[in-house]
Amino acid sequence: MPELPEVEVTRLRLEPYLVGRAFTQVVLRTAKLRLPVPAELPFLLTGKTVHAIVRRGKYLLFDCGEGWLLVHLGMTGFLQLLTGPSLPGKHDHVEFTFDDGRILRFHDPRKFGIVTWFSGDPLRHPLLAEIGPEPLGDTFVGDYLFNVSRRRKVPIKQLIMDSGVVAGVGNIYANEALYRARIRPDRPSGTLILQECSELVTAIREVLEGSIGEGSSFRVAEETAAYHPQSFKVYGRGGEPCFTCGAPLDEIRLGGRSTVFCTICQR
Ligand SMILES: [Zn+2]
Repeated sequence: MPELPEVEVTRLRLEPYLVGRAFTQVVLRTAKLRLPVPAELPFLLTGKTVHAIVRRGKYLLFDCGEGWLLVHLGMTGFLQLLTGPSLPGKHDHVEFTFDDGRILRFHDPRKFGIVTWFSGDPLRHPLLAEIGPEPLGDTFVGDYLFNVSRRRKVPIKQLIMDSGVVAGVGNIYANEALYRARIRPDRPSGTLILQECSELVTAIREVLEGSIGEGSSFRVAEETAAYHPQSFKVYGRGGEPCFTCGAPLDEIRLGGRSTVFCTICQR
């Protein structure tokens, strides 16, 4: 699943090619993804210029002057940038052509992604209005996490994966950040002291930034804004030795999600 670093890498890759370009054609091949794709999208976008591409949580927001194109990659989506026309595949649902001939394709086998239009302030869109602070932004600090975790019994891993608490920390990076901060993922959130909250915030930032850094230098085939980088320390390594102490990593499920940690290094 694309997580925040993959979305940011996608944004960084698209920005130099698409900002300043105008849409010349938009083709919808699928009427419904997670939400219906607005049938008027071709009419709304054709002739408009991309002024900027910004990210909020895992949403990509294309500033088109009089409104915004909102894109979420869902579970299996990605954006592919082509230098010219080619036959679409089965899962290529939306195609945007630009005035230099490049084509941006939205590909999504499971159709959990979102492609929609919003004419107001995108941060007030119902999908975005409730999202918490950006994990790489100035307001996500130890004091903040400490305050929102008081009297909460929910395991800390689930708290940091709650997009209302902090934007876009998915399962992989929650596992990795808790290992780095040496905090057990099943600790009730309210038991963390301020110093642990500060260390966890730092760890979240480090794992996300590390992955964005690796992703941006990652070889990208066929001009696909794809992802995948990073060798993970715990994610996907249940039963394998901890890189710090050598003990086998434990694997449990929390909130239905695979959770891997070291019972010796993480407290
Ligand atoms: Zn260990």
